[in-house]
Amino acid sequence: MVEGHQCHRVVHAHKKVLLGQRFRAASPNGKFMDGAKAIDQQPLTRIECHGKNLFYFFGEGEGAVVLHAHFGMSGAFKTLPRGGSPPETTPNTRLLLTGERVVALLSAMIVQHGGLDLYEEKVAKLGPDPLREDADKERLWAVMQKSKKSIGQLLMDQTAVAGIGNIYRAEILFKAGVHPEEPGRLVSREGFELIWRHSVDLLQRGFKSGSILTVDADEAKILGPPWQRRYIYNHKSCGRCGSAISTWIIQARTCYACLTCQPLQAGTELNPERAKILAAATGTKVFNSHCAPEPPRADSNPRSKAAAALGRLTVAALKEKLKELNEPLDGKKAQLVERLATALQTATLATTVGEEEGESAAEVAAGANALMKAEAAALQPGTQGLGHIATAEEAALEKARAGEGRNVEHVALETEGTLGLAATQSKTGAKAAPRRAAARMVKAEAPAAELPALQASGKLTIRKRRTASVAGRSTRSKSAAQTAEARGIGLDVPYEWGNPETTER
Ligand SMILES: [Zn+2]
Repeated sequence: MVEGHQCHRVVHAHKKVLLGQRFRAASPNGKFMDGAKAIDQQPLTRIECHGKNLFYFFGEGEGAVVLHAHFGMSGAFKTLPRGGSPPETTPNTRLLLTGERVVALLSAMIVQHGGLDLYEEKVAKLGPDPLREDADKERLWAVMQKSKKSIGQLLMDQTAVAGIGNIYRAEILFKAGVHPEEPGRLVSREGFELIWRHSVDLLQRGFKSGSILTVDADEAKILGPPWQRRYIYNHKSCGRCGSAISTWIIQARTCYACLTCQPLQAGTELNPERAKILAAATGTKVFNSHCAPEPPRADSNPRSKAAAALGRLTVAALKEKLKELNEPLDGKKAQLVERLATALQTATLATTVGEEEGESAAEVAAGANALMKAEAAALQPGTQGLGHIATAEEAALEKARAGEGRNVEHVALETEGTLGLAATQSKTGAKAAPRRAAARMVKAEAPAAELPALQASGKLTIRKRRTASVAGRSTRSKSAAQTAEARGIGLDVPYEWGNPETTER
């Protein structure tokens, strides 16, 4: 599924390269003929993204024609410089826009058109989108209070919150320490605040980097491979505690959870059907995305260390510290330890509960709590002021460097350059690199300095360049930067690949 951050990336790029222009519109596969006719040669005046829904406004004011697109599992909206001959289309190409200098090709599960009322109707049905400045988290909270659905269902329900897909669901709930089967109405306000905060934080990170990277930079260094990109999604074991990851199905999608880090709240009673499904949960059947995980040694894991240190405290001492953090005091000692470890984990994973630094656990926890509150206050939904947004090429290169195949995250933003940057798998995955991905390797336009090392490492395969042309001129011998410039999408801003967390927010 194309998740919300990828849709926002498409809109962000198209505001730069398409907005304000007029296009000849056609429907190469014949499935959007009326729509193409309605928007033909009308100026593109506005583009909006709500969750996984894109809206392109053609024409002015009340009479504008609105194109609504939803990518589904694997659509794309590609732009490339207009060449001498028409661009290649596929049986899935619903719309071809031909401008003066640029062409755009849309393939998506849903492409429809209508008036402004189409836009208003669609948007009214969607929950708040953490990547929109106007997102009101209280609407999600209100839905949770009334719903009979589990939080795992609600996060994927676009009418409750818009833009979150399966990978983000797994990672957001893990970071918030909330069990996916926890009924939405039983999630505490604190749990909700964590869920919202991580939703904004992770989707913004995905928007900026073009990759779903959920592990915090400092923690990525501690956890090491394979937990440097995601905590639990498609992993066999939890990088934090070493427990096996459980998987089961929630509404036809695989749900992932570490039941140690994400326990059901004490007293939660699941309905018999969900309890049965959960009881039958199995370990992760890792698909080929990156190196297969090896369970960490429990004693080398910082969280385990923290938990072990906390475990030496008396129940009274544990309760005292939990009280300082405004955490509940019920439950057995193991639950108290887990709760305190969770409360501490945000900012203090790297420390062994302050013992080595001479700080008490309470002091460390108080610091962590203050930091978290400050961070939460500073974190606003939306995409404004996020600094440099990685180009499609940079994002593709980041994935290539990590050895991540195109089968993990569906990329909807495609420019000519990224089509060639199909990553093959590093080491373990190399032999099983998806053939389709290999077949799509057309050409590469990565920053020149990066290429030799990537090719040598086997992380990047580059097929011989196909001649592309800009305004009738061959660009075969042009450098990546020059070609990018011709496309109007710049590679001029340096970007820290790998851990986007290392860049300023
Ligand atoms: Zn865990």
